[in-house]
Amino acid sequence: MVADAQPASVVIVGAGQAGYETAAALRERGYPARITLISAEDALPYERPPLSKAYLKGQEHFSDEQLWLRPASYYTRQSIDLVRGTVREIDPVARTVRLADGSGYDYGHLVLAVGAQPRGLDVPGARLRGVHTLRTARDAAGLRASLATARRAVVVGAGFIGLEFAAAARESGCEVTVVEALDRPLARVVTTPTAEHFTRLHRRAGTELLFGQGVAALHGDDHKGVTAVELADGRMLPADLVLIGIGVVPRTELAAMAGLPVDGGIAVDSRLLTSDPCISAIGDCAAFRHMRFGNRLRLESVQNAVGHARLVAERLTGRSRAYDELPWFWSDQFATTLQIAGLDDGHDSEVVIGDDPDAFSVLLFRGQELRAVESVNRPADHLAARRLLERGVGLSPVEAGAPDFTLKGHLARRREGSGVAVG
Ligand SMILES: Cc1cc2nc3c(=O)[nH]c(=O)nc-3n(C[C@H](O)[C@H](O)[C@H](O)COP(=O)(O)OP(=O)(O)OC[C@H]3O[C@@H](n4cnc5c(N)ncnc54)[C@H](O)[C@@H]3O)c2cc1C
Repeated sequence: MVADAQPASVVIVGAGQAGYETAAALRERGYPARITLISAEDALPYERPPLSKAYLKGQEHFSDEQLWLRPASYYTRQSIDLVRGTVREIDPVARTVRLADGSGYDYGHLVLAVGAQPRGLDVPGARLRGVHTLRTARDAAGLRASLATARRAVVVGAGFIGLEFAAAARESGCEVTVVEALDRPLARVVTTPTAEHFTRLHRRAGTELLFGQGVAALHGDDHKGVTAVELADGRMLPADLVLIGIGVVPRTELAAMAGLPVDGGIAVDSRLLTSDPCISAIGDCAAFRHMRFGNRLRLESVQNAVGHARLVAERLTGRSRAYDELPWFWSDQFATTLQIAGLDDGHDSEVVIGDDPDAFSVLLFRGQELRAVESVNRPADHLAARRLLERGVGLSPVEAGAPDFTLKGHLARRREGSGVAVG
């Protein structure tokens, strides 16, 4: 089977950031035919980052409409058929998808943008009232309502979602304890100096952080809901609200049922095509080949979802290329912003720049090569780091360690040296 350069119709399963962006980018690029965007959620396509940040701080600060990526009129104007429903089955031979209500849609090209779902905590009591996960606007609305009355919150998992929620809960007056199985927060995604900064930040705000701790059970009853978290060492933490933030699992079932390979996500090549040339997979659900990194990657970020969507829209309108965008990411906790440029795919040295313990950047090197930069409250460093990494501008650990070194200055010097106009 050969993929159409410009298929007769495009069906997109999942109307999250990646799905919405695919539809929008197709229309921006002049794609003239039918676009069907199928959403399992009730809400119009919306952005998720505020759900663990500003949205939690109260109705008066953030309405549901402010989450929308576009108002309803946009989809009508752009002739994007927004369909409410859950796709249960793909028939790759007939090129159709079937929804739970029995309806079916033919596709010329199918884009799987089905995202990921929170990993569950497999302990007794995990289904008690007052125990939450945070992925959807509905989850966030439930948490926001609970925060209005909750007094003691326990957060299981010190990843981005857990820490962002912990900050919002603390700011709304809750006593907060974060329980983490590993020895520091954000252990899989940031270096020790950055992790230590976030430990200090949360402790300074009065949050208790417990590392190297597992959860044995959640206690409570049908009447009161959750009342306590029992740790693996037997300690009991009183709680009337528990957030489970132990990561997500990509949604791969539909793809697997259709016979598509799965490899830590729906397996796609560097053009984001599955083994079927008429089916792409993008965003959080896709394990893809990235031109800058060796192994298959699965990334969870807005930038990745948007970048994937645009690439697929380009391919479906006649311009095929391999995905090589530099990954970047951000997280807001209290008044602190962390920004990460690049990806730590194994580093052997670190250089910290900036003397302020609350505003610094960590440069990660493999050998003589800069691989990633974590910036805490240093937005100018982040922008310069992205440019350096995108353009492959050389920088050694020795150069970065010089007393007066700045990323911006280095970028400007290298541009002058290469005769490229600064701008
Ligand atoms: C609370 C929170 C905060 C975040 N903060 C940040 C941040 O600060 N910075 C950042 O870069 N990233 C952040 N992220 C991550 C970012 O939001 C995700 O990486 C991005 O939303 C992924 O988009 P996606 O479209 O791939 O998946 P999703 O947004 O998960 O969308 C997938 C959609 O597909 C639907 N779906 C699934 N199966 C089916 C089916 N069979 N039929 C129909 N529909 C289906 C789902 O219901 C869902 O609506 C955050 C995520 C969360 C949850």
